[in-house]
Amino acid sequence: MTVTRFAPSPTGFLHIGNLRTALHNWMFAKKAGGRFLLRIDDTDAQRSEERFVAAIRRDLAWLGLVPDGEERQSARFDRYEAVFADMVARGRIYPAYETPEELDLRRKILAGRGLPPVYDRAALKLSDEDRARLEEEGRRPHWRFRLEAEPIAWDDMVRGPQRFDGALLSDPVVRRADGSWLYLLPSVIDDADMGVTHVVRGEDHVSNTATQMQMFAAMGATPPAFAHEALLVGNEGKLSKRLGSLGVEHFREQGIEPEAVVALLARLGTSDPVEPVVDPAPLIAAFDFGRFGRAPARFDEGELAQVNARIVHQLPFERVRQALPEWMDAAAWDAVRGNLERVADAADWWRVVTGPVDALPVAEEDRAFLTRAAEVAAGLAWVDPWAELTSALKAETGRKGKALFLPLRRALTGMDHGPDMAALLPLIGRERAVARLTG
Ligand code: GLU
Repeated sequence: MTVTRFAPSPTGFLHIGNLRTALHNWMFAKKAGGRFLLRIDDTDAQRSEERFVAAIRRDLAWLGLVPDGEERQSARFDRYEAVFADMVARGRIYPAYETPEELDLRRKILAGRGLPPVYDRAALKLSDEDRARLEEEGRRPHWRFRLEAEPIAWDDMVRGPQRFDGALLSDPVVRRADGSWLYLLPSVIDDADMGVTHVVRGEDHVSNTATQMQMFAAMGATPPAFAHEALLVGNEGKLSKRLGSLGVEHFREQGIEPEAVVALLARLGTSDPVEPVVDPAPLIAAFDFGRFGRAPARFDEGELAQVNARIVHQLPFERVRQALPEWMDAAAWDAVRGNLERVADAADWWRVVTGPVDALPVAEEDRAFLTRAAEVAAGLAWVDPWAELTSALKAETGRKGKALFLPLRRALTGMDHGPDMAALLPLIGRERAVARLTG
């Protein structure tokens, strides 16, 4: 059974890059008929906030990504403690006493000699007496995971074969001196315990993965498969601050529909065209990490707005009803949706229907024509009023094309352009139509 997880830290609101990671985890699990878990990575009690947890749930729900289960790291400290104790007993985790300043100095010395900034494992050479003395001085250890000097390799679903050498990496710190956890080890314990089969995350985690591969092994667990996705950049090609502030709240304010976000993010970073579909099923069916490139994916708000318009044109009445003016019905929605960029704009067209509309100036040569149109409209059968009105006026006046349609549209709607009049006129109704044509 395929199991994926989206593992945000609740220290802020999700931004577009997080939403993309969540979506791809969800799509991959759905395609495989598997499970998609939400894991709240809240080991950092200082920075984690309940309001962000609530916002994460809300944002996923808005996108339609329903987790098949939710886990919380803060509920699992006992388990981390047990694994930690076991690894300490086996010498896979060891105490280190260097201060940040000491570590910094050592890195500078290495850099001066042109060497990579790899931790020298001085802490492994401490005797029991050394440690006792340091503790007496009031030093508290932080804890490092001891890497084996072995090749580390995996076949990344996005990046292809990855190779690291355990001998060239620093033993990662897994626990701070105050007892708090860094993200690396709890994440491995969770992924192993929760049967996560595929870890999908940003490429900023690639070097973490190298060390985590050895942590899975140290737990006697088979590591999951990994997909490290190229990061999202803004239109200007950079990792912008702006991108970090674009989240669900912003999109809602802009009138962006969740279907548009899903459709765009499903394909951004692939060379496949974006398909503005309301139902994500075909996107899920075609989802494949092999289609994603290694170059950063460009997110363009303008493109999102375009996809959004194409989504809005297809949305069924039931889906948008809550967002429409109270008396606006399915026929009215169907009449105007093809002209909208955002659902909220439907209210503008509804005002055109219900009026009053601001009359546009009438050209001298159209006055008699419109007066006649009002008389004709008053006597129509009103089954298909626009067709009835225009064919009667065409026969009577010889007008056609723009000369026939435009003065009528302008008088009836107060606008030069807009939805199909055949759909709009029945909504405007005979009484209002006659009054508007009369001027
Ligand atoms: N909490 C981690 C983060 O937000 C999770 C990374 C992961 O998916 O493993 O970066």
